[in-house]
Amino acid sequence: MSRSAHPAGPRHADVLPEGHYSGPPADLNALDPQIWARTVVRADTGAVTVGGLDVRDLAEEFGTPAYFLDESDFRERCRAWRDAFGSEADVFYAGKAFLSRAVVRWLHEEGLNLDVCSAGELHTALAAGMPADRIALHGNNKSTSEIRQAVEAGVGRIVLDSFQEIARVAHLARELGTVQKVQIRVTVGVEAHTHEFIATAHEDQKFGLALADGQAAEAVRRVLQLDSLELLGIHSHIGSQIFDTSGFEVAAHRVVGLLRQVRDEHGVELPEIDLGGGLGIAYTSEDDPREPHEIAKALGDIVTGECRAAGLSVPRLSVEPGRAIVGPTAFTLYEVGTVKELEGLRTYVSVDGGMSDNIRTALYDAEYSVSLVSRTSEAEPMLSRVVGKHCESGDIVVKDAFLPADLAPGDLLAVPATGAYCRSMASNYNHALRPPVVAVRNGEARVIVRRETEEDLARLDVG
Ligand SMILES: *Cc1c(COP(=O)(O)O)cnc(C)c1O
Repeated sequence: MSRSAHPAGPRHADVLPEGHYSGPPADLNALDPQIWARTVVRADTGAVTVGGLDVRDLAEEFGTPAYFLDESDFRERCRAWRDAFGSEADVFYAGKAFLSRAVVRWLHEEGLNLDVCSAGELHTALAAGMPADRIALHGNNKSTSEIRQAVEAGVGRIVLDSFQEIARVAHLARELGTVQKVQIRVTVGVEAHTHEFIATAHEDQKFGLALADGQAAEAVRRVLQLDSLELLGIHSHIGSQIFDTSGFEVAAHRVVGLLRQVRDEHGVELPEIDLGGGLGIAYTSEDDPREPHEIAKALGDIVTGECRAAGLSVPRLSVEPGRAIVGPTAFTLYEVGTVKELEGLRTYVSVDGGMSDNIRTALYDAEYSVSLVSRTSEAEPMLSRVVGKHCESGDIVVKDAFLPADLAPGDLLAVPATGAYCRSMASNYNHALRPPVVAVRNGEARVIVRRETEEDLARLDVG
């Protein structure tokens, strides 16, 4: 039955990268609740269900590859963030993680605000009925047209990213006869990722205005002089997939330092601080993310403590989780096409998608998990690499995974935690048709973003 069982042994430890888990999980059929959407379970049939629906039926109805998004999980996470931060703070969902009209409606209904960073995202937000005053516009190079559309719509804030942009937004707001609320994005010299952060004086990156060399203070001075801008506060975003709040502590300390400087120089206490997003989720069982209430408590304490120490009244806090809300709520369902064993190395399992629906592995060396979901298996674990169907050897979905050795074409595999930065970063490489996003809730499945068709591609190709 099995082509060749590859129980974890010393020869496999050689192939696994250092620091990686060294062996297969105790039970290949088990689903770690930490990395799967909340309603995902393995049913008595052996197949996995989401929202009560069998993945085999979902594959039949919607095809593969496809993203299945657990709507009740999404809504619960929105509520958890909103409740954790309470009425003293604002939660902005970062739309770039994944945005569609259905998502905007859910956010609206659950009381969240929304970050957008392009005219496309702004249109989606407005078209789905998000009130403009609950939208923030981001970006390091917003076009004049994007700024104009945002000001005209009446967005709640524009996060200013450069001196040129201060002038541009001020000019457009004046021309449109309005006063635009703004924040200034500053770089605080903290680079945070996962469990480590680096605090430096300077930061070498394209976003924001640096605190260290006085650019941020100069930006504040300019904005305060402009009648068509109302300065709400200071914005900082320090990284992504962060598990530890110590990077935020340094960021808050430095931002509050600027608030104090602004008070001393201009006699103004700015009413808001935004600490950005970047909070981590579990992609594998090794990851152990904090709950929203723990994060809210930590960030609240940090900001309150820093402001007290600086003799400032505590500003209104906002945060911008993207991944932490949508990431865990979806999985990608693939069908296995080929299984190729490389003797002494690993087994390559090719699925019907790849880097066109999940670029994160190729782009960031991101780690994912994967499970056989159309049935259970008692076969031995085999060290596998799940790859896509694109013309690129870097087209890897899951770099190192243990899958049952009896895996065969036609089996369904699911990769959990693909709600964020997968569909939103999907491409048409090799003229792939971007997969649909199907929302599942209480036994019902509904397409919220349909699968692309060859006609969609043909329409853009005007000969
Ligand atoms: C990307 C981004 C976010 C969201 O990041 P996540 O890692 O998805 O939480 C929030 N704020 C800003 C300014 C961003 O650029």
